[in-house]
Amino acid sequence: MNPIIAANWKLNLTKSDVLELITNINENMTDIDGLELIISPSYPYLELVSSTLKKGMVAAQNMALYERGAYTGEVSGEMIKSCGASHVILGHSERRHTFNETNDMIKVKLSHCRQLGLTPILCVGETLAERNSGQLKSVIESQLAVLSEFSGPYYIAYEPVWAIGTGETATPEIANDVHAFIRGIIGKNIPILYGGSVNEKNIEGLLSMPSIDGALIGGASLKATEFSSILSISNSLERTSK
Ligand code: PEP
Repeated sequence: MNPIIAANWKLNLTKSDVLELITNINENMTDIDGLELIISPSYPYLELVSSTLKKGMVAAQNMALYERGAYTGEVSGEMIKSCGASHVILGHSERRHTFNETNDMIKVKLSHCRQLGLTPILCVGETLAERNSGQLKSVIESQLAVLSEFSGPYYIAYEPVWAIGTGETATPEIANDVHAFIRGIIGKNIPILYGGSVNEKNIEGLLSMPSIDGALIGGASLKATEFSSILSISNSLERTSK
C-alpha cells in the first residue's frame, strides 16, 4: 500500500490561498508517484480543488445528516459528490466535541456514504482523560462499532484528541500500538492513518511503523513549504512490507 497523505484544511483559507496551495502541490506532485493524496477543503472550495488538483482526490470535512429538505446551512452527501469529492471525513473529534456529533449520527452518515459510493474516513481517538483512566480500548471499540452495518471501502484515522493541534504528537510506538489494536478489530487491507500534530520532522518515524499507512494532517498541511516536504519524505519511504 502506498502511503496516504490526507490534508484537513478545516475552517481556513480564502479562495486565493486555496489556489496558491494547490499550485504548490501540483508542482510538487509532478515528481511523486508513490503516494495517495487526499485534500479536504471547506465545502465552497470542493469543486475548485477537484478541478485544479492534478494528482489526488478530494474529501469533504463533514456531511449533513439529511439528504435534502428544510435544513438551512447543511450540505448533503449528494452535493459533495456532485462537486467532485470521493471521500468524506466523518467523526472528526472537532465535530464530536464542538458540534456534539454522536456515533448514532455517524451511522446515518455512513449509510448515505454507502448509497452514494463516497468513501468515509472515519476518525476515532481518545481524550487524555479517557487514556489516563484506562478507557482507550473501550472508547475506540465503541467508535468503530458504527461500522458494523457498513459495507464498502473505508479508511480509519486514529487521532488521539490530546494530539490534535497541540504540537504533542503520539510517539510512533504509541500510535502504532493503537493502530495494531484497530487492525485487530477491522481486519487487513483497510488503511489506517494517524493524525495529531504530524509535521515534516515526525512524518518519517510515523510512516515507518508497520501498522501506520498514512497521515491525516491539519496545521502542517496549510504551510506550502512544510507540506511539500511531507509529501516528498512520504514518497521516498520504502513501502515493501505494507
Ligand atoms: C486534524 O485536523 O485532523 C489534525 C490532525 O490536525 P493537526 O495536524 O493540526 O493536529
